[in-house]
Amino acid sequence: MKCDICSAKIETTFLGKIRGTYVRDAKGKQKAACFECQRKLVTKEALLDALK
Ligand SMILES: [Zn+2]
Repeated sequence: MKCDICSAKIETTFLGKIRGTYVRDAKGKQKAACFECQRKLVTKEALLDALK
């Protein structure tokens, strides 16, 4: 799993959850964002903006 914003590798926990978040873009496509990007961009709007 790679971050769709910064291309960093996203770690997964032993429960299979990612250390980050998923956001859906305008086309309904699921994108992954790493913990660092999530921390920097905070809101879903900001994350989606960074994906463009
Ligand atoms: Zn990232």
